[in-house]
Amino acid sequence: MRFEISKVLDAIEGRVCTDPSLARAVLDLAEVIRYQDLDSGRPANLLRLGMVIDALARDLEEDSVPVYAIVHRALLSDADLTSNERMVVRRWADDGLVEVLDNPGDRMLEVADLLGLPVLSRARFDGLRGRFPWVVEQPGRVLAPVPGAGGPVFIAHVGGGNVPVAGARSATGAKLLARQWRCPEPGCALFGGGGGGAFADLRAERSPAGQPPPALRHGAPTCPRHGARLSDAGPRPRTEVLAVRVGGLIRRRFVLTEGQAVLVGRAPDQQGGIVLGQWLNDEARRWISRSHVRFELRVGEVIVTDVSTNGSGIRPGGSMAEPDRVPLAPQQSRVLSTNDMVELYPGVQIGRADELPAGAPFTPTSVMAEAPTMAMRLPKP
Ligand SMILES: [Zn+2]
Repeated sequence: MRFEISKVLDAIEGRVCTDPSLARAVLDLAEVIRYQDLDSGRPANLLRLGMVIDALARDLEEDSVPVYAIVHRALLSDADLTSNERMVVRRWADDGLVEVLDNPGDRMLEVADLLGLPVLSRARFDGLRGRFPWVVEQPGRVLAPVPGAGGPVFIAHVGGGNVPVAGARSATGAKLLARQWRCPEPGCALFGGGGGGAFADLRAERSPAGQPPPALRHGAPTCPRHGARLSDAGPRPRTEVLAVRVGGLIRRRFVLTEGQAVLVGRAPDQQGGIVLGQWLNDEARRWISRSHVRFELRVGEVIVTDVSTNGSGIRPGGSMAEPDRVPLAPQQSRVLSTNDMVELYPGVQIGRADELPAGAPFTPTSVMAEAPTMAMRLPKP
């Protein structure tokens, strides 16, 4: 059972991030793990984060939907969590997957404001509607996860709506995210850049393109973790968000950064490569190479190169009509035009995330699939 819980926590780990291009909602981890009414279990349980993430994925009709979690530092030693759960949260903190703060204050709303994300919280934020008018003016921007049939559902306390909706990044957010930032604190997991920490070099290098939004203190960009003034480290590299659609469903998004090629295939041999194997049937597995296509972002253009044995195809403008499909032979490259999709195999497509529609009823892959029934007493759907 312990082993199974570890597997669930690993799955949840894949759904927490502070990357502004990938996070789809903001939440307060200390709040979510205490939603005891979701499963009538112990006072605090990290698996409740998985339940809320699943509910979000269901509403957004996408798999692998990551959340931006704000974590009060006290949570790292919260005696209501198991030692294993505390260890997992500490690891997330060390890796910069979550944002740990001594005093979270309004940071959750600040992040939501800068990034244009919905907030998942049972708090009402009545006093903050002056500073953040979207709290009441934009339906779907603040939603409370509450118990429902088959898992949590979202309801609005203020502002209406019951499906999480993203807004635009605020003007300040857009400005802050155009630059990369450096924290003077050695080994800062959020705004690090060389040096510090015994394990700093064991950590996966954080791309400056994926830095979280700085906090603003008296108008100055500040590290939310260390309270230190951040220095401007130059323009942030350009990015484009691509999405993988398998069987009509968006299975995951990934960030393509200028100067960093990304391999996509059955099981690419590249750190940060996009692994499709888990979503493929036997025929697709046989057809699709370990590394099948390579994406690059050059001067704002997405370039795809086939690196496979069997070749791919392009669906110009997203057209699913067979006569429109253009073959992409092995070693051939092409610039992706608006709405173009790359097709690795029938039903396996990649395109720009904001242009790729879902084309099938949603059948989610639960992040909780491994959850032992002993640990979580979910109401029957
Ligand atoms: Zn810092």
